[in-house]
Parts: sequence; structure tokens; C-alpha cells
Amino acid sequence: QAKAAGRSNFRIFNEDMLLQANNRLMIEQDISSAIAEHQLRLFLQPIVSIADGKLKGFEALVRWFHPKRGLIMPANFIPDIENSDAIIEVGNYVLAEAVQLLQRLKHKDWGELYIAVNLSARHYLAPGLAEYIRSLLLSNGITAKGLLLEVTEESVIEQVDKAMEVMAELKTLGVRIAIDDFGTGYSSLSYLKQLPFDVLKIDRCFTSGIQENDADTHIVTTVIDLAHNLGRTVVAEGVESELQYEFLATAGCELAQGYLLAKPMDEHRIMSVLDSIHDSRRWPREDMPSLL
Ligand code: C2E
Ligand code: MG
Ligand code: MG
Ligand code: MG
Repeated sequence: QAKAAGRSNFRIFNEDMLLQANNRLMIEQDISSAIAEHQLRLFLQPIVSIADGKLKGFEALVRWFHPKRGLIMPANFIPDIENSDAIIEVGNYVLAEAVQLLQRLKHKDWGELYIAVNLSARHYLAPGLAEYIRSLLLSNGITAKGLLLEVTEESVIEQVDKAMEVMAELKTLGVRIAIDDFGTGYSSLSYLKQLPFDVLKIDRCFTSGIQENDADTHIVTTVIDLAHNLGRTVVAEGVESELQYEFLATAGCELAQGYLLAKPMDEHRIMSVLDSIHDSRRWPREDMPSLL
């Protein structure tokens, strides 16, 4: 009896695994052709200086326009490929697209805008990343200040020594680094202190609790103070209300990103905003009603 149950459990477990593996394999195979056929596209979400409303840069967020399955959001394919080299293919593609985009942005009179690119742990720790970025910047005539790499706490905590080495290498290039989704991972303060990152991004789950509950409100102010004491800059993610924005201004948070300012948009849309409105480089959030 136990043996039979054991065996059938084993079988079910296996089928499930097979299905998952198969799905993953399908996505991995699809990804290469998706890249070749430009089905992966960068959307951009503005990042704004809270004190004066000026546009500082964008976060690049990838979308997959699949010919059969339609629009696939990153949450529905990035996690599936994060344990394979397909994530490196995607990441390198996103980096290349971002650098080319920076070149097109240079022609706009909007100052030195930067693009933040998300890097998965496997890609961040893969050999040759710094060299790849160096050559991309060089061949496109872009200064390293234009790129900001977003890594999560997991990326730096699993192999601390290696992560430290990579960060130092990237810093030598002049590229800036942000810790993304801060507070949702497992990084300890002793690592945080040692890592030469530039920017700390407060996760949306805390921003959304500002003045909704005491815990999140205190966490946000404390994290801002902590980052400042370490000499880092803070971005609040997921800013959706004027109330949150005002609170962040008072708390001394430098930068904001969120639906209050804009949802991620395609390049065409971004460029037409930059072309049409020119109010001393301030992001025109009042004039951006229903996007997407
Ligand atoms: P993330 O890096 O933390 O990006 C922020 C996410 O929050 C984005 O979701 C963005 O659209 C969303 N967001 C921004 N402001 C607001 C807001 O005010 N309210 C709400 N509800 N959401 C907001 P998205 O584009 O679906 O991306 C999800 C995640 O997928 C990203 O989280 C990032 O971890 C990953 N991702 C996206 N693009 C890439 C990529 O090119 N490479 C890698 N490795 N990961 C990526
Ligand atoms: Mg990010
Ligand atoms: Mg984030
Ligand atoms: Mg995230």
C-alpha cells in the first residue's frame, strides 16, 4: 500500500516536473527567436527628482510581444529563464537596446538622462559582464554614467565575495548600481555597508503603506535615513499618490518612480512627450492622463 502510494506520488511528481521542464524548454527555445525577431521590447518608466519634478532617467522594463500568445509581462517569463543561460541572452539584449536608446536620447535637449536596467543574479555573476558593457558603451559613444544596473539583494547575498568583485569591476567602468526591491530580500546590514552600490530602491510594498499604516511609514523613513547615512541615493518605487509623493519629499527621498508620474511606456510615446513638452526638463505628469 505505502509502496504503491509512494510510487504514484513519484509518478505525479515526475509528470509535474516534466510539464514544468517542458514549459521552460519551450520558453528558452522561443526566447532566442524572440530576440532575433524583435519580439522583446523595452518599455520605459520615468524616474523623477522629487524636490523639483525634473526627469532624471528611466527604468527599462522588458515586454514580450509574442506572435501567438500576445503581450507577455516579465513576471510571466523572466522567472522561468532565470536559472538558464537564456537570461543572459535576454539581459545582454536589453543592455544593448538600452545603450542604443541612450544614444537616441542624447539628441533630445533633456540633459543627461540615464537608463536603469534590471539584471538577474545569474547574469550579474556571469563572466564577461563588465567587458560586454564596456564594449557596448564604447561602440555607442555613451558615458558610463548613462547606465544604472539594478540588482536584487539575492544577487549579492548568495555569493558575497564574487558579488563584491563584480560590483567593484562595474564601478571601475563608471556604471552605477542600485539595490532593487530593497527590504524584500535577505541582505544583512553588514553586507550592505560593504557593497559599493550607489542607489537604494525602496520596494513598492513599503511605498504603498505610507500613511496607511505606521509600520510601513516608519520603515520608509528609516530606510531613507539609513541609505543617506551610508551616502546612498534613494528611489521610492510604486509611488501612486500625491500623499505618498509629499511624504517622500518631506522625508528627504531624492527620486520617485510610479504610476503617479507615469506607467511604463514604449519609446515612441516617451519621445513624443520629450519632443512636445519642454518645461525646464520637468516631467509633465499633469498632462499624462490615461496611459496604456
Ligand atoms: P522591478 O524591477 O521592481 O520593476 C518595477 C515594477 O513595478 C514594474 O513591473 C513596473 O511596471 C511596476 N510599477 C512601477 N510603478 C508602479 C506603480 O506605481 N504601481 C504598480 N502597481 N506597479 C508599478 P513590470 O514591468 O511588470 O516588471 C516586473 C519585474 O520584472 C521587474 O520588477 C523586474 O524584476 C523584472 N524585469 C523587468 N524587466 C526586466 C529585464 O529586462 N531583465 C530582468 N532580469 N528582469 C526584468
Ligand atoms: Mg527594477
Ligand atoms: Mg523594484
Ligand atoms: Mg521587483
